[in-house]
Amino acid sequence: MTDPLDPAPRDAGDPLAGFRDRFSPAPDVVAYLDGNSLGRPPAATADRLAAFVRDEWGTRLIRGWDEGWWQLPEELGALVLGAAAGQTVVADSTTVLLHKLVRAAVALRPGRDGIVTDAGDFPTDRDVVGGVAAERGLRVHAVGTDPAGGITPDQVAAAVSERTALVCLSHVGYRSGRIADAAAITRIAHDAGALVLWDLSHSAGAIPVELDAWGADLAVGCGYKYLNGGPGAPAFGYVRSGLQPGIENPLPGWVGRAEPFAMERDFTPATGIRRLLSGTPPVLAAVGLQVSLEMIAEAGIDAVRAKSLALTGYVLEIADAWLAPHGVTVASPREPSVRGGHVMLTRPGFRDLLAPLHAAGVLPDFRDPDGLRIGPAALSTSFAEVHAGLGVLRDLLDRT
Ligand SMILES: *Cc1c(COP(=O)(O)O)cnc(C)c1O
Repeated sequence: MTDPLDPAPRDAGDPLAGFRDRFSPAPDVVAYLDGNSLGRPPAATADRLAAFVRDEWGTRLIRGWDEGWWQLPEELGALVLGAAAGQTVVADSTTVLLHKLVRAAVALRPGRDGIVTDAGDFPTDRDVVGGVAAERGLRVHAVGTDPAGGITPDQVAAAVSERTALVCLSHVGYRSGRIADAAAITRIAHDAGALVLWDLSHSAGAIPVELDAWGADLAVGCGYKYLNGGPGAPAFGYVRSGLQPGIENPLPGWVGRAEPFAMERDFTPATGIRRLLSGTPPVLAAVGLQVSLEMIAEAGIDAVRAKSLALTGYVLEIADAWLAPHGVTVASPREPSVRGGHVMLTRPGFRDLLAPLHAAGVLPDFRDPDGLRIGPAALSTSFAEVHAGLGVLRDLLDRT
């Protein structure tokens, strides 16, 4: 009898299977299921970084700035964001860039004193919005959302008003993995006269993002999750071109000047997206990010999304067959059109299984109070790996 959960035919039919060998091996890992928290390194990253240090930094020295380094922050990013050139930069961390953009956005809507957010959003997003609101004397309207779901257009419509300066939300919920209807929410916010900022930390590199098509104003995202830029990789930011002339960087610095090398007395911001930069770009880290962005572009984000959906669909099938009898609940959407790149499984006591899972070489993500996030990155994860990892989880549950 054929096993409907056999991973072999799925791996055999996977057009992206060849990409798996292009990641650095991790010999003791049976299943890496945390690509949504820290992507694996492409093997080429080590070579490219070593070559950069030896040949570019090493031999070009200060001349390197004029030979491409200076432009790197603007060149990356557009690859996977559905954004025309000149609207993205790679810089800072997500938290810092988010602060810059939230602060700049509310300054663009004087006379409006409200920011709409999701009460269940990732802590840093709530911290940044809360911090800017406190500094500027604004009100935060945090919409209470279902932890297994996410923010809906109706909820945003009920929350915005003529007092709303900014709607600041995550495209994919970090817990449930639910994809928000970004186009509809952006339209609703704009109808109320507000700006919209999307945090793409859990979508970029896993899900097609269409910032220009949505009509989004601002966006940020994380370089080390599905973009595999490495621990603490710089973030990326987006500002719609029409909005750029009014953007005031709350952390102005010489690299964001119109003429950084003129060393003028007064600050005049660069005309385009570079005005978001503060200091010297993180070139070494950007080189690491570039390797992965090129790989994702080569695979094609639509193919990445198709494989990601097949992987998370497989997680759901296995969860229903093996884990539900042990009381495990799926706290993520089953509907593919709104399912992001990861699946949240919950069960009281999951925390205690984390150590034995790690000991067995199975690395999922844990979120308080009792959630295991299963984030199988499309380019680096096989169906066999998902099968093996969730098999270890089932065996552990059998023994509890
Ligand atoms: C991962 C993540 C961040 C990370 O911010 P850092 O500044 O890189 O620590 C921010 N927001 C969201 C929604 C995230 O998922």
